[in-house]
Amino acid sequence: MGYLYGPAGELRCGICAADGAVKRLCPYKVDGLRYCIPQAMCSRCYREAGGLRGVHGDKCRDGAAAAQAGADADRAALAAGDLKVESFGFSHPSVPDGMYGVLFSGPAGKEWRLVYRKQFHGTSRRTMTAFPDAQPWAGHPS
Ligand SMILES: [Zn+2]
Ligand SMILES: [Zn+2]
Repeated sequence: MGYLYGPAGELRCGICAADGAVKRLCPYKVDGLRYCIPQAMCSRCYREAGGLRGVHGDKCRDGAAAAQAGADADRAALAAGDLKVESFGFSHPSVPDGMYGVLFSGPAGKEWRLVYRKQFHGTSRRTMTAFPDAQPWAGHPS
């Protein structure tokens, strides 16, 4: 999400467009990057949104912790020779409803698998061994 600026380059509130807005940076990070990037807010909108706890509450804390755990697990898996998601999609006719066709790749080669979309979106993991239910993808594009 981009920030809103006035004609002189001043930061404006992303909710009410008032001048004098401040970036409300997320205190939680994943691999050193802010977990979320909310719009800049003036002090009134920030207060109405619940302040720091309202804008970056348990959802940010828990989400960042889960994403960091996933990133760490992916790093460990890749170091052990696992393959990572190179691309995924469902527009190919050989991909059944509710699934993604996923191309995993790494130094060890390439593997094409079918993964349930729900599982794919239910985790931040992006390595092949994180999807033990993945099935061989017959008819994958190469
Ligand atoms: Zn505002
Ligand atoms: Zn946040």
